[in-house]
Amino acid sequence: MNHTVDTIIIGAGASGLFCAFNLASFGKSVLVLDHANKAGKKILMSGGGRCNFINRQVEPRHFISQNPHFVKSALSKYGSDDFIDLVNRHGIAYHEREHGQLFCDDSAKDILDMLLKQCQDFGVGIHLHTVIDSIRATDDNGFALQTTHKKDGTATTYHCQHLVVATGGLSIPTLGASGFGYQVASQFGHSIVPTEAALVPFTFTDATGDLIKSQAGLSLDVTASNDKISFTLPLLFTHRGLSGPAMLQLSNYWHLGESITINLAPQTDIAALLLTAKKSHPKQLIRTALAGVLPKKLLTALENHLWQAHKETELANLKDDTLRQIATLLNAWTLKPSGTEGYRVAEVTRGGVDTRDVSGKTMESRLKPNLYFIGEVLDVTGWLGGYNFAWAWASGYACAESIGMK
Ligand code: FAD
Repeated sequence: MNHTVDTIIIGAGASGLFCAFNLASFGKSVLVLDHANKAGKKILMSGGGRCNFINRQVEPRHFISQNPHFVKSALSKYGSDDFIDLVNRHGIAYHEREHGQLFCDDSAKDILDMLLKQCQDFGVGIHLHTVIDSIRATDDNGFALQTTHKKDGTATTYHCQHLVVATGGLSIPTLGASGFGYQVASQFGHSIVPTEAALVPFTFTDATGDLIKSQAGLSLDVTASNDKISFTLPLLFTHRGLSGPAMLQLSNYWHLGESITINLAPQTDIAALLLTAKKSHPKQLIRTALAGVLPKKLLTALENHLWQAHKETELANLKDDTLRQIATLLNAWTLKPSGTEGYRVAEVTRGGVDTRDVSGKTMESRLKPNLYFIGEVLDVTGWLGGYNFAWAWASGYACAESIGMK
């Protein structure tokens, strides 16, 4: 079988679907190919099933890339208000949570249905179960894709003038994630910034790991930082390690072997508190002075782990320096994660197609005309909070506009 269209988009995820109907609105024939049995699987899983589809405030500082300027043009062309308008036009009910995050009231399916309806209205074809066996550049500056249908084995050759790679990152392979986009990029001479799981919980081995496990289920507001950035957000202790928004955000900026610092009581200067208590209540133990600052169970675990030798000593008998050191352990608890929970649970992939060889205005390859990369396959990683979808929409739009205006 043979099939010819103006543009083929590989990947029926957030960026692919969004780009598809925007491009079709310019009158171009668009076909989306995906190897999965369903479009937009990650959208359905996102935001705990409610899809944090955008953030009210989207700025370049919310993204990590080896080239931090890359996102600027696309974000300025298509911002939060544009997407919110679209959601409003489709009558989707949503609400705002802390830090400007917008979530569906009912279900993430509302967002996927909206994208699919837009695709249908503009005549976008979506072929699922389609495995792309090979891609070849044709003499007319277009592309030929050799595919096999997963279910019936039908072989099809697709021809297109423009090829858009929207295959996402490596996170959650069970949702269809693959490294195919990186392969296509490499085939056409692009380099790949090494990929790592991001927006992902940390794991710990040894005694710290045991301490953390013993607190599984506990959540508290902390300031988590490293030498690059700091976030004041909830931390969650789990049976596997440390999770919660504070850890997920920090994981975007973490590399194996690096330490992280957690201020367990960001509202309290613990050194000042202990030194004052030493004067006012000299017979108190450290844990009594800190009751109310940290949960009791955590305090007990920490004293056994961090200041066992002093736990039954009255404050009056502890040197000021010792109290200051203990305070530092709590206001700046320094930990070395042994790793992360990896792609199995990571929300995103850091790294990807190097943006230096892609136009930030059009998402077109600088190495191969008519080849485009959008969404997470690129070396652009957003913070937690709706920023990864913001990038999917903005990059998808920039690409659609560029091809559409040709
Ligand atoms: P995807 O949406 O991942 O789409 C890629 C598509 O390409 C998939 O359909 C896949 O099947 C297809 N594909 C892959 N390989 C091939 C191949 N070889 N051949 C054919 N097709 C292929 N971001 C937010 O902003 N807010 C959230 O609330 C949020 N929640 C999340 C929750 C979870 C559990 C996860 C995993 C991610 C979440 N994200 C969230 C991140 C967000 O989902 C992604 O950043 C976004 O979907 C990326 O869009 P994309 O189009 O680049 O890739």
